[in-house]
Amino acid sequence: MKKNYMNNPASLKIDLMLRGIRIDDPLVKAWACGSSGVDIMLPRKTLVNIPCREEFTRNSPYLIKKAGDQYLITDGKAEVKVSLVPRPDFYAKKTTTGVPFSNIAVSHGSYTVVTPSPRCDFFNRKIECKYCAGNFDAEGRENVVYSVEEVLETVEEVLKEKASEIIYLSIGFSESDDGGIEFLKPYIKAIKKHFHCLVAVEALPPKKNHSIDETYAIGADSVLYNLEIFDKELFEIICPGRAELIGRNRYIEALKHAAKIFPNGTVASHLIVGLEPPGSTAMGIDFLTEMGVVPILPIYRPSKNRALRIEPLTAEIIIPVYKHLYKAVNRHKINLAWVRDLSMVTTPVEVKMIMDEGGSKEGNSLFDSFYKSKLGLKTAWGLSTLRRKLRVKNTGHKDE
Ligand code: SF4
Repeated sequence: MKKNYMNNPASLKIDLMLRGIRIDDPLVKAWACGSSGVDIMLPRKTLVNIPCREEFTRNSPYLIKKAGDQYLITDGKAEVKVSLVPRPDFYAKKTTTGVPFSNIAVSHGSYTVVTPSPRCDFFNRKIECKYCAGNFDAEGRENVVYSVEEVLETVEEVLKEKASEIIYLSIGFSESDDGGIEFLKPYIKAIKKHFHCLVAVEALPPKKNHSIDETYAIGADSVLYNLEIFDKELFEIICPGRAELIGRNRYIEALKHAAKIFPNGTVASHLIVGLEPPGSTAMGIDFLTEMGVVPILPIYRPSKNRALRIEPLTAEIIIPVYKHLYKAVNRHKINLAWVRDLSMVTTPVEVKMIMDEGGSKEGNSLFDSFYKSKLGLKTAWGLSTLRRKLRVKNTGHKDE
């Protein structure tokens, strides 16, 4: 018999991300229109972005409906009260040069992804990642580069609205050996100069470690080099560009080096759940946490012509993987202040909700401090400036 997840928001979040939702309310339909999913607040302040446009969502047992002033999610047997997360106001505004802010930035709860250039040179070479769901292949936008001023205006709107506290600067593959950090440098410096916010860089690993030192030295607070798939062969098949032009070993070396330079908990790597067997994702979790890297586990959303998901894939199968993650970060004492209030991925604090349901008392100490993470983030901000100065001085920009 299928498990019922309606009583636990964290399990429900995982099942909703996996199976999507059907919508019968015109307002919610309009709300979700044009975006990758609909942002919903489940009970216990559990934020989730639920796929609703992809074909697989048509078979979802979940439906969102309106009853009076209230929104409900039902699986046909039970109902849970939820609320729609308002779209950020900046989505409807433009830069002074006329670019919609939504072309430059997308908010996902506590963080906003800013893309200064929607280019990824893997597309030119036809070696793009087979799951790529970003807007990096948007036709006619290959040569678009937003100016520092346009990005600053965008960040200002995001912060003014308090849409997010962390700005992720995200770029695709470029031919340069530095992984794009020279390109990002003026953006990072300008954001850090004008705003009191945290900046994360989501990029492909540079060829040499001194570019990682440089990333830290110019002000990035966090870095993500996304391995995406731990299994060596699947990595080569699904990510041909990454495998051919960067290589799995370089990912690992770069993450290892970054974890020595950046503060605990600020170096992360995505492992996409559903693109490889769960056991392989679990091995990836062990490998990354051993190096002090935070594994972030988004769930793959199959779309037309990109039906790469391994089947069967159910919440019963993947919840143990999230529990494994929780135990691993706990074991390695990895600071999780950065990984919270995320709509697109399940956070460790949510996994704790699942474990508590099973009567587990593991990891309470970690999560006591985790709950204070707003304060933790602020403290990290102040300390990081000092640490940066010391670390960069000590490492002296030499490759290992
Ligand atoms: S690196 Fe891969 S996932 Fe990222 S933009 Fe390029 S093709 Fe897409």
